[in-house]
Amino acid sequence: MSKLRFRVVEEAYNRKAVDVAIPTERPNQYYGKYVFNRQKMAQYLPQSVYDALVNAIDNKESLSRDIADSVAEGMKRWAIDNGARHYSHWFHPLTDGTAEKHDAFIDLDGKGGVVEEFSGKLLVQQEPDASSFPNGGIRNTFEARGYSVWDISSPAFILGKTLCIPTIFISYTGESLDYKAPLLRAINSVDKAATGVAQYFDPNVKHVTSFLGWEQEYFLVDESLYSARPDLVMTGRTLMGHESAKNQQLEDHYFGAIPSRVDAFMLDLEIECHKLGIPAKTRHNEVAPNQFELAPIFEETNLANDHNLLLMSLMAEVARRHNFRILLHEKPFAGVNGSGKHNNWSLGTDTGIQLFAPGKTPIGNLQFITFVVNVMAAVHRHNGLLKASIMSATNCHRLGANEAPPAIISIFLGKQLSEILEKVENSTNDELFNVSGKEGLSLGMSQIPEIMVDNTDRNRTSPFAFTGNRFEFRAVGSSANCASAMIALNAAVAEQLNYFKEKVDSRIANGEKLNHALLEEIKKLISQSKAIHFDGNGYSNEWKEEAARRGLDCETNAAKIFDAYLSEQSIEMFRKAGVFTKIELEARNEVKWEMYTKKIQIEARVLGDLAINHVVPVAMRYQSILVDNVLKLRTLFSGEKGETMSTQDVNTIESIASHVSKTKDEVAKMIEARKVANRIECEREKALAYHDTVVPCMEKIREYIDDLELMVDNEIWPLPKYRELLFIR
Ligand code: ADP
Ligand code: MG
Repeated sequence: MSKLRFRVVEEAYNRKAVDVAIPTERPNQYYGKYVFNRQKMAQYLPQSVYDALVNAIDNKESLSRDIADSVAEGMKRWAIDNGARHYSHWFHPLTDGTAEKHDAFIDLDGKGGVVEEFSGKLLVQQEPDASSFPNGGIRNTFEARGYSVWDISSPAFILGKTLCIPTIFISYTGESLDYKAPLLRAINSVDKAATGVAQYFDPNVKHVTSFLGWEQEYFLVDESLYSARPDLVMTGRTLMGHESAKNQQLEDHYFGAIPSRVDAFMLDLEIECHKLGIPAKTRHNEVAPNQFELAPIFEETNLANDHNLLLMSLMAEVARRHNFRILLHEKPFAGVNGSGKHNNWSLGTDTGIQLFAPGKTPIGNLQFITFVVNVMAAVHRHNGLLKASIMSATNCHRLGANEAPPAIISIFLGKQLSEILEKVENSTNDELFNVSGKEGLSLGMSQIPEIMVDNTDRNRTSPFAFTGNRFEFRAVGSSANCASAMIALNAAVAEQLNYFKEKVDSRIANGEKLNHALLEEIKKLISQSKAIHFDGNGYSNEWKEEAARRGLDCETNAAKIFDAYLSEQSIEMFRKAGVFTKIELEARNEVKWEMYTKKIQIEARVLGDLAINHVVPVAMRYQSILVDNVLKLRTLFSGEKGETMSTQDVNTIESIASHVSKTKDEVAKMIEARKVANRIECEREKALAYHDTVVPCMEKIREYIDDLELMVDNEIWPLPKYRELLFIR
């Protein structure tokens, strides 16, 4: 066994960087090569079809069947010209990944041969078997129909030899079975609501776009080491492993030099990204050893999310070419930082205004404050829901752990913005609009743009931070579909902006001036949503107590956190935004609980197996070597002398024996707890049982095994250790 460990460690340490096939062209020549973007559309579609398609995309209109046929024909020609042989509707089922079902372009020609065909009908709609995807009981297998429907707002692309068409996935009765359909609905609702409010400041605004710039954190592990760790292979995280003597305490990894093997991987990945139109831009080391980050230039939220999902599958593929495995799990290694996927989110108008960026004029600043304050109010009202939107069996290891955002949602504003809001709250209208020249509101706001855009006042401990011209939702997990967070956030903000507009409109109807009406409502919101504002250290224990006093949601049990989706106010909010019906919410929660249970179930099985079949036998082998030694010592040196010489060994034998027996007991207990939990029918109750009875056993087992790792002879320890897994050479 240990032979395997030493072989894989040697293999990993000897590995050299893989050569990357760097294109001879510059990025601007291959960027978007495999994307059916507007340039390809213009090239492959008749002018009238191109115009109709672009119009439908820009104005969110539907396409006629004729046009769809024409688009399909052009798309097929482009795809075939680029080597595609199959096409697939590409969608985001309620797993953390994407789904594809490939069909060849071929059709029988009636003369014993085939033609390559692709019709508008196949482009627009298909019928994958919905019963095989998580659906929370909306589908039963007898009525398994589900439809995937073309999302014209996200361009088709070629992956390998397959033309992929982004689609939404809905049931026969119209309920969404995916992340994309509700995301599109949430984006629409925030578009409408924000446009209404933005028109107070500029009547020419017709649309507001939601933007997303995700930062993807990940770990890399050498593939030989990875395959010698069944826990990594099966669950994506290490279920055991004693902390390495050195990990991140010297803070020497963050922004450090990138190892050459990793550098090659990143370059290769970026080239692939660019060919697929993913604007990958930034890369750096992260805090933990072997941890890295990739960030693109932000894009419209739906497209950005498609790109993130595509990136996650590209990463896995490219990593293999470099003899790495990618770990997207939120907490692959205990004791070092976990991985998140910071969601940088903003709203912008079609007139080019970033609504969370301070303005250059008094009115611009009033608009900025209006939008920021409404976000605060929305996040305050729905803080429990926003937490639920990022919660999962994997992310809960990261939230609430001491080096991660806590399982409490709060907003960081920074010193300047906090001061400005305080000033607004305590000011009178006369003061504020006593404007001299073009300087700005008399808040000293003329200085805002310069200072705030360069907001260096970063607080890494906040789960939701204002960062100069956007909000950064940091609590999102590295393996998650960003849509979950983006659906809740955009819909919640839409609801709040609608409330706000109703109130302001009614003040205006009562004869108040617009600015006065806006300011009065802004002041109310500032004072009402104070509880969500926290600029201090989010990792501290004092904050947990303080947050509870403020009435923020402090629940840490993932299975209970999901309940927030089914509160009256969430159901109402999603209904009004047209994002989810109550039935959809209930079904989706069933899926969440089921997923939670299944992930822990798999981990528990793997852990039980590793404990009993890998670790315990090795520990017992070492124990018997020691026993042998003690007996021999005592034979050689009789009496007190022999006893003294073997005392340490006897202690170790006792300790090993006790750890082994406790491990066995705990594994038996864990198996029993699983059996009991598995008999529970209600998904929520089952998830709770897993949380309350299975997880604690797993934690204890790990503790015993990690102790054993320090006692047992290194030569025979079966699994690669943290110090071997974590430092790529
Ligand atoms: P950090 O310093 O937080 O690590 P990064 O440069 O790694 O920042 O990532 C910042 C992300 O935020 C990028 O994806 C960037 O495109 C995105 N971003 C910048 N401005 C905006 C904005 N206005 N709206 C949404 N995302 C934005
Ligand atoms: Mg970053």
